[in-house]
Amino acid sequence: MEWEAVIGLEVHIQLLTNSKMFSGASARYGAVPNTQACAVDVALPGVLPVMNVEAARMAVKFGLAIGAKINHHSVFARKNYFYPDLPKGYQISQYELPIVQAGHVDIEVDGVSKRIGVTRAHLEEDAGKSLHEDFHGLSGIDLNRAGTPLLEIVSEPDMRSTGEAVAYLKKLHELVRYLEICDGNMQEGSFRCDANVSVRPKGETKLGTRAELKNINSFRFVERAIAYEIERQIDVCEGGGTVVQETRLYDPNKDETRSMRSKEEAHDYRYFPDPDLPPLEFDDEFIREVAKTLPELPDAKRERFMREYALPAYDAGVLTATHEMANYYEETVRASGVDPKLAANWVAGDLAGYLNKENRTIAESAVSAPMLSGLLRRIADNTISGKIAKDVLDAMWNGEGDADSIIEKKGLTQITDTGAIEKVVDEILAANSKQLEQYRSGQEKLFGYFVGQVMKATAGKANPKQVNDVLKRKLRG
Ligand code: ADP
Ligand code: MG
Repeated sequence: MEWEAVIGLEVHIQLLTNSKMFSGASARYGAVPNTQACAVDVALPGVLPVMNVEAARMAVKFGLAIGAKINHHSVFARKNYFYPDLPKGYQISQYELPIVQAGHVDIEVDGVSKRIGVTRAHLEEDAGKSLHEDFHGLSGIDLNRAGTPLLEIVSEPDMRSTGEAVAYLKKLHELVRYLEICDGNMQEGSFRCDANVSVRPKGETKLGTRAELKNINSFRFVERAIAYEIERQIDVCEGGGTVVQETRLYDPNKDETRSMRSKEEAHDYRYFPDPDLPPLEFDDEFIREVAKTLPELPDAKRERFMREYALPAYDAGVLTATHEMANYYEETVRASGVDPKLAANWVAGDLAGYLNKENRTIAESAVSAPMLSGLLRRIADNTISGKIAKDVLDAMWNGEGDADSIIEKKGLTQITDTGAIEKVVDEILAANSKQLEQYRSGQEKLFGYFVGQVMKATAGKANPKQVNDVLKRKLRG
C-alpha cells in the first residue's frame, strides 16, 4: 500500500514590540530573570490588561502580506489551563474571531510551485518559562517572557512532504523578517514551530489521525522530526495498529519523537471571551495606514532582481534572502556601476563565504558595500584580475584598507602590456623546450601548463585573457 503524509504547521512568532502585549513592561530578550515582569505579568489581583496597538499593527501587516482577510472586529479569549509559568491560570489568546483569516503562502519545491493555505493568524500572549537547571531538585520560574506578544500562524493541512513543510517554514521565516515584525531567532525562541502530522492511504480524501510534534527549534529538526513521525505512523498502520491523537516531543539527541500526553481538545480549555478586554475594532483607514508600511515582499524582489539585473533565479534567491542582503547588493551595483552579474558573483559568492565562515550577518560584514564597489571597479577596468581580486578582498576583510590602497601597497596591478607579456611567454617557452616539443607533437592539454607557468612567473598579475591570446599565437607559429 502506498501512503501519503499530511502536514499542517502552527508557527508562533514573537512580535518585535518594545513592550508586552497587555502591559508596559519591556519585552526585550535576555534580561535577568523576573526583572521585566510587572504587576500585570505576574497577575496580581485587580490588575487589568491594556492592549498594545503596535502588536495589532504587526498582525495586520502580516495579514496583508499573505493576502488574507483582516477582520475589522476580532475578540480576545481566555484559554484556561494550569501551569506554574502561567500565574493567571489562563492565557489571553484569540479563538472564534482571530485578527487574520484565510491567507496563503506560495512555496517552490524542486521547481514545482504550490500554494499553502493559512487558516488563521491570531494574537496571544506568551507564558513564562520554567527553569529546571541549577535549582537542586526544584524548579525556578522566570516571568520575563510572560505577556510577550505572539502571533500564532496556523496553516491548512496542505503539505505532503518534509520538503514542502521546510519550504513553507523558510518562506514564513523570510517574510516575517522582511516585514520587521519578528527577528526570526529560533535559538531564542522568537520563531517556533509545532508540526501536525498524519498519514493516509494514497487516494484517500479523509484526514488520518494526527500527532502534534513539539520542541522542534531548527529547520533541520523540523525535517527530521516530521520524517521520523511519518515513518513511525506508517509502521503503526502497516502493523495493523491505529495512530492515536497525541502530543509528541522530538528528541534531537535520539532523533525520534516520544509520546508526551494525549492531545487536548479545544473544549478542554473552556475558551470564553475575555471580559477585561473590549473587542479589537479597526476601520479601513487603519488598515490603509498599515498597508502603506508594507515593504517590497521577497517574491516581488526576487522577480525584480531577475528582470532588472538579468540574474539567474539562483543568484536572485541568494541575494534576496534578507532585505539587508538585497540592499547591500543594490548599493554595490549602484556605487560600482559594474555589470550586475559581476556584482552578484562577488556578493553571493566570495563575500557570502566570509560571512558564513565567521557566522556574521551582512550588517556585520567587515567589508561594506562602498568598499566592495571599489574592488569591483578595479576588476571591471582591468587593473586587477579576478584571481588577484580574491587576495585583495581577503586583505580588505582583514582590515588592511580599501581596494586601491591595497593594490598600490602590494604592487598588484595587473600586467596588461602585451609586450611585457610576450617577453615572459618567450622566456617560458624557451625554458620548457621539452614540453614545447610534446605540445607540438599533439599533446594539446599542455596549453594549461604554459598558462600556469606564465602566471607563476608574473605572480598571478598577468592578464589571463591576454596570456591565453599571446600563447595561442606563439604556439601556432
Ligand atoms: P490545535 O492543534 O490547537 O487543536 P487545530 O485543530 O486548528 O488546532 O489544528 C492545528 C493544525 O493541525 C493546523 O495547522 C492543521 O492544518 C493541522 N491539522 C489538522 N488536522 C490534521 C491532520 N489530520 N493531519 C495533519 N495536520 C492536521
Ligand atoms: Mg495545536
